[in-house]
Amino acid sequence: MKRQVVIIGSGPAGWTAGIYAARASLQPLLLEGALSAENQEKNTLPMGQLALTTEVENYPGFPTGDLSQYLQTSLDAERLAYLAPHAKKGVTGPELMELMRQQAIHFGTEVISEDAVKIEPGETSHKVHASDGTVYEADAVIVATGARANWLNLPSEAAFKNRGVSACAVCDGALPRFRNQPVAVIGGGDSAMEDAIYLTHFASKVYLVHRRNEFRASSIMVQKALNNPKIEPVYSYVVKEILGEEKTGVTQVALQSTQGEADKTLDVSGVFVLIGHTPNTDFLQDVVELDSHRYIVRPQPGRTMTSVEGIFAAGDCADSIYRQAVTAAASGCMAAIDAERWLLKRN
Ligand code: NAP
Repeated sequence: MKRQVVIIGSGPAGWTAGIYAARASLQPLLLEGALSAENQEKNTLPMGQLALTTEVENYPGFPTGDLSQYLQTSLDAERLAYLAPHAKKGVTGPELMELMRQQAIHFGTEVISEDAVKIEPGETSHKVHASDGTVYEADAVIVATGARANWLNLPSEAAFKNRGVSACAVCDGALPRFRNQPVAVIGGGDSAMEDAIYLTHFASKVYLVHRRNEFRASSIMVQKALNNPKIEPVYSYVVKEILGEEKTGVTQVALQSTQGEADKTLDVSGVFVLIGHTPNTDFLQDVVELDSHRYIVRPQPGRTMTSVEGIFAAGDCADSIYRQAVTAAASGCMAAIDAERWLLKRN
């Protein structure tokens, strides 16, 4: 059956697009992704990057407090069973995503647990191929497939994720484990500078570890970082291993020189890996215009249209700058409204 709107992606942008499109009576179908080994390997499991984090303290509407009663009454028992016991304060990333999912379903979004593997753009409608071979035809498609943080791919990095290893200072930097403790930021781009500066609000010291002797970031960001007395650059070193204990998490990072100098070990409670992101747009190559970093181009500033009529983009797959849950959710809303108005005008 032909759909008015197919949404691809199950992060904050996808679910928000689902909520808005369903409330606009567009009966959206949302491909939330598959729980496959391949997606696990690539860090592209359903529910997006928030599903990989712990506490979320910066999403408006979820202040510190005990949400356990609310979660028990608002989520299906089966879905609730996926979540870690919630005996503390505030909301976690996985809980927030489950709540958004429930909200989208409540208004009538139909959810399919498959990946979109291909879009075939057409003159009057587009075909979305799912990983189980089903082809969905849609008047409008909203792509909200997010991005994945690049990792160093060290076993010790994987072992300490969410226990001192993070790829987002804005998401995790204010957690108690980093407060008044030294931390390391890995990377030399604008994200590394920005997050290192952000972390100085909480950490006692921030080591900025870069593999070359010159940062890639814009000079204004580099100057800002280097002028901060809490930031100490560590040039020409790469991470050899992240060290820690089962119970406490990260305690040290072992570094290897890229210039033949002696190895060194830094005492840190956290390692923030900021070596870039990869938007989940591989399946869109040759479909819509992508920029040089493979983010979807939205030619009209402030709008969610892509280079192809009837295909809209929301969230981190089209945003290399803000990359926050709240900005992704907002752009999901915008994409649903843009799609609704475009459909109205066309029909
Ligand atoms: P990026 O510019 O691609 O920088 C990634 C950094 O990580 C580079 O310094 C790179 O080193 C390093 N790196 C990559 N792989 C590594 C590895 N395996 N081990 C160690 N280091 C590694 O990524 P980004 O900083 O996320 O920025 C992405 C885009 O967003 C950029 O266009 C940036 O300007 C933009 N951005 C803008 C702002 C802002 O304007 N406020 C803030 C954030 C991001 P090399 O330099 O040696 O390649």
